[in-house]
Amino acid sequence: MSCKQCGKCCEILSTIILTNEEVDSNKFLMAKQKVDGEIRLKQSTKGHCIYLKDNKCSIHNQKPTICKQASCPKQEGYLGFAKEDS
Ligand code: SF4
Repeated sequence: MSCKQCGKCCEILSTIILTNEEVDSNKFLMAKQKVDGEIRLKQSTKGHCIYLKDNKCSIHNQKPTICKQASCPKQEGYLGFAKEDS
């Protein structure tokens, strides 16, 4: 199923927790905040990720790991997040 850019996945993913590697990198410098001991992306006043613009990810090619692991909520058999290989 191809992405229809509805923004649903980003609405559901309202809490974007960064990996330790992402926290230590220079990525998302102006968009990070510490909440309850976790480093997360900031949210807009609507409670969505600040990178969600017109239902599209404005940093699609550089989005955080958690976003890459999310599956489409409109896809048949939606299971939420993909399991991490460990
Ligand atoms: S970084 Fe991009 S893909 Fe991840 S929640 Fe924000 S807008 Fe969506």
